[in-house]
Amino acid sequence: MIENAHSMIREIKEYAKKENIPIMLDDGINFLTNFILKNKITTILEVGTAIGYSAIRMALASPNLKIVTIERDEERYLVALKNIKKFNLEKRITLIFNDALDVSLDEKFDLIFLDGAKGKNIDFLEHFEKNLAEGGFFITDNINFHGYVQKEETEIKSRNLKGLVRKIKRYIDYLKDSDKYTTEFYEVGDGIAVTSKKEVG
Ligand code: SAH
Ligand code: MG
Repeated sequence: MIENAHSMIREIKEYAKKENIPIMLDDGINFLTNFILKNKITTILEVGTAIGYSAIRMALASPNLKIVTIERDEERYLVALKNIKKFNLEKRITLIFNDALDVSLDEKFDLIFLDGAKGKNIDFLEHFEKNLAEGGFFITDNINFHGYVQKEETEIKSRNLKGLVRKIKRYIDYLKDSDKYTTEFYEVGDGIAVTSKKEVG
């Protein structure tokens, strides 16, 4: 990365911290970029752009990579647009301002990265199943949800949080019990799941 890119990345991270925007953790990003290179990923669909941080980091990892990324929050979408322009990545990162569940795409992607509302992952996965390329992967972020998924339910006071944690657990069970998919869970960042189609036959 060129020196200027480093300082621009730092600025985005600082903005995220100040505005409480939950961008990917460093080791999560490293995992993702290594995964992209190792598996020769060339097309990515991302659910949950926020301010464009993960999309930019992924695009910088590999010069041929193309990314479509979806964000439903207008303010964040606008900041993401600006950030992507700063990096001159408009040609490789396409931003869509909408609720991902209302977006219907025809293209297929080598990697579909789920990093939107944590209680909606089953819906996202089912909605974009048809967009997964042959031999492609779903990667889901925040599978541990700041460690709450591992906690006893009685330890969690807030009702909203309890509901969210239940949904994440339901998603984990859904992946584990799936006849169609195999999933590996990684203890990196805030917990990452890598899901691929089971081989038939
Ligand atoms: N991937 C980003 C962080 C995303 S944070 C990064 O690591 O840099 C999650 C984002 O998903 C939030 O900005 C939220 O507005 C968005 N989001 C949540 N549910 C969504 C949905 N259904 N459709 C589109 N965006 C969604
Ligand atoms: Mg995340």
